[in-house]
Amino acid sequence: MNRPLKPDNEAERLAALRGYEVLDTPREDAFDDLVMIASAICGMPMGSVSLIDADRQWFKARLGLADAETSRDSAFCAHAILDPDAVMVVPDAVDDPRFRDTPFVVGSPGIRFYAGAPLLSAEGLPLGTLCVMDRQPRTLQPHQVEALNALSRQVSQLLELRRVSKALNLQLQDRVWYEDQLHRYQEALEAHNADLIEQTRTDPLTGLANRRAFSAALGNVLQAGQPCCVAIIDIDHFKVVNDVHGHLVGDRVLAEVAGQLRAASGGHGTIARYGGEEFVWLLPDTPGAHAELQCNHLREAVRHASEALPVTISVGLAAAMPGESLASLMERADQALYAAKRNGRDRVEIAR
Ligand code: GH3
Ligand code: MG
Ligand code: MG
Repeated sequence: MNRPLKPDNEAERLAALRGYEVLDTPREDAFDDLVMIASAICGMPMGSVSLIDADRQWFKARLGLADAETSRDSAFCAHAILDPDAVMVVPDAVDDPRFRDTPFVVGSPGIRFYAGAPLLSAEGLPLGTLCVMDRQPRTLQPHQVEALNALSRQVSQLLELRRVSKALNLQLQDRVWYEDQLHRYQEALEAHNADLIEQTRTDPLTGLANRRAFSAALGNVLQAGQPCCVAIIDIDHFKVVNDVHGHLVGDRVLAEVAGQLRAASGGHGTIARYGGEEFVWLLPDTPGAHAELQCNHLREAVRHASEALPVTISVGLAAAMPGESLASLMERADQALYAAKRNGRDRVEIAR
């Protein structure tokens, strides 16, 4: 037996074969069918799609052959791939020094005739053969050789199709993964943005809406021409709290008063920290007289709720006039507050 030589481009050829990821995969009808057709056209009892791996030939499809693979050294197909452009025909293996003492000729299945058409990769590298065999010496008619060649091209195409559809499938999975990641990233970003927006609208010390949020809310109400009242609430003599008890206690008192204002407002309108020891209360759809009662309720609540330190508030209240600007309304409320301070503090004054 003459051991088959290896093609010059063996490393490249093996890399191409591995790229198809077909070795050791289960049987597939499409390959079985092509082997069956080749055998039928050539009138042979045996046939295979044989792929030549580094040290073995492995059958993707086989007809009349017992084993799923054989050694490369004794494989007819290993010789056939040495000339990728031709169908290799062995009319009688017993007369051929390359094969006469190989196990498949001497023993089972007793091969005498062989014809193999190379299977080529997309780049033209030989991967194996589509072959037919018989247990007696034979010849093939030219049209049978031609048919075997045509069918081997079909097998090559099938391999290529299999490879491309696998790659497409992988790309699809990749895309799904990337889209999933993108989606998560977007969600995290949105949550983070929501936090940021919340931070820009909330006063960190008291947890109330801040001046920016209040101004936006008031701007909307005025723009809509909705009637409303605005109260500016200022803690009386707060500087003394800081001076006597320190800034930290001052902070705690601010937070406590904020809580009392929120509770006493009963969720009506928007209470915000306007800055320093000043708060504002936006009361939409509230007549001035009603708003005054509510402000006095707030004032009483703070005066009586003081836990650690007695604290009072002064309030300047203004009812928006039709078409009035935000600046004008706030200015009038501020004037009213100034009057409340001047008139003795711990009181509510109404703007004119
Ligand atoms: P009035 O009754 O006239 O309003 O007197 P007041 O002392 O409350 O007013 P003034 O404007 O003189 O002082 C306000 C003080 O509020 C001064 C400032 O140190 C204090 N203050 C402003 N913001 C904060 C704060 O966030 N924390 C603390 N602890 N103090 C603050
Ligand atoms: Mg003040
Ligand atoms: Mg004050």
